[in-house]
Amino acid sequence: RDRIDIDGISVSPDHFIGGQRVTSAETFETRCPFDWDRKLADMARGNAETAALAAEAASAAFPAWAALTAAERGAYLHRLADLIEANVEKLAMVECLDMGMLLESLRLRVILRGAANFRNYADLATNHEERVWSSRGTLNRVIRMPAGPALIITPWNAPFMLSTWKCAPALAAGNTVILKPADWSPLSASVLADLIAEAGFPAGVFNIVQGLGAELGNALTSDPRIKRISFTGSVPTARIIGKAAAENIVPFTAELGGKSPLLVFADADLDAAAKKAAGQFDDSGQVCMAGTRIIVEESIKDAFLEKFHAYTDAQVMGDSRDAATTMSALIHPIHADRVLGFIDRARAAGDTIVRGGKRFREGANWIEPTLIVPKDNQSEVVQNEVFGPVLTFQTFRDEAEGVALANSTAYGLSGIVYTGSEERAQRVGRLVRGGTVWVNTFLVRDLTAPFGGIGISGIGREGGDYALDFHSDLKTLQILEG
Ligand code: ADP
Repeated sequence: RDRIDIDGISVSPDHFIGGQRVTSAETFETRCPFDWDRKLADMARGNAETAALAAEAASAAFPAWAALTAAERGAYLHRLADLIEANVEKLAMVECLDMGMLLESLRLRVILRGAANFRNYADLATNHEERVWSSRGTLNRVIRMPAGPALIITPWNAPFMLSTWKCAPALAAGNTVILKPADWSPLSASVLADLIAEAGFPAGVFNIVQGLGAELGNALTSDPRIKRISFTGSVPTARIIGKAAAENIVPFTAELGGKSPLLVFADADLDAAAKKAAGQFDDSGQVCMAGTRIIVEESIKDAFLEKFHAYTDAQVMGDSRDAATTMSALIHPIHADRVLGFIDRARAAGDTIVRGGKRFREGANWIEPTLIVPKDNQSEVVQNEVFGPVLTFQTFRDEAEGVALANSTAYGLSGIVYTGSEERAQRVGRLVRGGTVWVNTFLVRDLTAPFGGIGISGIGREGGDYALDFHSDLKTLQILEG
């Protein structure tokens, strides 16, 4: 298939398998979220045959890749990171057009974070020290054995960041990789494939396949050559993939949705808290960690809301390439309709829509920043992830009630707490249910820290050594001493 020219950037619509571009007879299209009439590409639509080819390539390449030292593999990862850094502008523009994320933030932060993911894992794996100790007359040693081909399945909301975050530990651990990005934002992965080729990775070490979830995804997850599955996406899909993983007894991690609380105490820096709350609209709420349930101490309710509304009024919906735009469009009209469905049902159920609640413009993919005061804590918009610019607002009278509200959903991905008390930060930070809890900040993360969810927010932990362990078969070697 011919390469496509996207504003002067050449992008392949094809898969990247065994070091080569491979196509499929059928296609699927990808469009620009903030300019929906603009079709960007017809992408190769992978099927069972594609899955088999990729699994074959990844398993053929595995023994040689696994036999390299961590430092040798690390050199490839650093080379790829160099190329990502050299191609920031290109990657940022493609991701912006394809996913709708703001260009400025892609250029300055997100793409570079992708490069950092590869560097971080190259160095962690290289500097890893095996645990060695004497016990019961034997010398014990814990060895990380590469596990085999790893399948990485990523969602549409942060395609480049999440793909690099998830592929880097697999490669560093000595596994070969098949990446399947989501079909609503497939393009940055295809640019990544060009960089993988340029970095000179051995054929079959890092493969990228394009296609629809159920069709290509099912064929991949059921392939017995796949030895690890690492997934980020929705709860229903995790259940399907989990069953496939169970069938082949394959370890599986899932980072799923959230319904995270943003808890504000009366002793907090109100301005900072209100600004961060209004900032939850930035990516139109298409962030799994977003603090979508604003829970504020009763005594500061009015002061908080005044500031929150002022910051929200300053949100600008528009072309994601414009520096003035602060709020990106929703990815797809289907998704915008889904979000509007939540709002309509909330209204019908007696929740109060305080602001927003409708499309910004007829036919556009933005929904106005929406704040809902639920009738009670059991409201659908309180208990279920919307993944749109929809926040709920609740109040509490004392710390215990605030924490109880914060912990009252089946999710547990993250939490945000605003307080001026260090003591409360320690106490409440431990009590709030979530794999990550931020106090007086949000989204800053150290790449070596564990990341993942509690409850229906996921299984397993990514980040640092946790992901390297997941991608390895841990072996205990015991040698008789003396
Ligand atoms: P989202 O709401 O982010 O689209 P999904 O769980 O539907 O969440 O999709 C996340 C990723 O999982 C996408 O790459 C999608 O194509 C993929 N996917 C969807 N269904 C399946 C499946 N049955 N098997 C494997 N992957 C799937």
